[in-house]
Amino acid sequence: MRTILFLNPVFKQMVWGGNQLGDKFGYAIPGDDTGECWGVSAHPNGKSIVREGLFKDKTLSRLWRENPELFGNIDLQFFPLLTKIIDAKGDCSVQVHPGDEYAREHENGSLGKTECWYIIDCEEDAAIVLGHNARSKEELTSMIEQKKWNDLIREVIVKPGDFIQVDSGMVHAIRGGMMVLETQQNSDITYRVYDYGRKIDGKERELHIKQSIDVITVPAPSVEESVKSTVHMPKNRMNELISCHSYVVWKLDITEKLTFEQSHPFMIMSVIEGEGEIDGHKIKKGDHFILPDGYGHVDLQGDMVIIASSVK
Ligand code: ZN
Repeated sequence: MRTILFLNPVFKQMVWGGNQLGDKFGYAIPGDDTGECWGVSAHPNGKSIVREGLFKDKTLSRLWRENPELFGNIDLQFFPLLTKIIDAKGDCSVQVHPGDEYAREHENGSLGKTECWYIIDCEEDAAIVLGHNARSKEELTSMIEQKKWNDLIREVIVKPGDFIQVDSGMVHAIRGGMMVLETQQNSDITYRVYDYGRKIDGKERELHIKQSIDVITVPAPSVEESVKSTVHMPKNRMNELISCHSYVVWKLDITEKLTFEQSHPFMIMSVIEGEGEIDGHKIKKGDHFILPDGYGHVDLQGDMVIIASSVK
């Protein structure tokens, strides 16, 4: 259908959140501890609502149920992806997500979660947690039980424009001083491995040690397999960043114009820098929208960076 579903984002306040989503993206954030902007979400914990046009005021989850033709009539119970912009002022807890199979069995039939990050901005020498140094499940278990966190956790230095694939089973954490666009499976199942001994209202947050040990992949995939720089990718074309069982993600760095056919069941787009136009509609940093199934020819022009995603 030749309509663009512009969506209003949902904000989440977090212990590690900040004010960059207001200061840098111009959103009306609810407080100085705003950690996440859910740009495209049909999750019950935060539902995107259509901003204008034919489907104005409908939630994405309702459209998924009532107008499946907009999304290529995919045979899935829920909209499969969730796109967030994360402002981590403080360190996020070290966590791991289960795969689909483990989640189905242990989490009431829920989906597992694979996610990926595009680093929008970070401080010099900023590091993320990505993977671990244990060589066997036994070593992993004993390092966790003996709380040898510094030996266990693998830190990786990142730069703006880096793209990181975080498969289910991969230990990970975004660290303070970072803004990230996250594309993920539409699931909220998270096992917290370690929270830096941090206390909130005098109490440490619950850890999920048994589940974590069950699902952590040993050994961890290499850093080279998981991290790639995108800064030298060509401009004015669709650069595929990843294609996996859960999603396909592209980076579009537009300085002039880009035209292509939207032939996927749907395509999510988030403008993370600059401004421009899509088929005569003005778009700018912070806009999130979906091009439905059968949209056809797409004309983008301006000076902007877009992260796009779909399913295979
Ligand atoms: Zn995660």
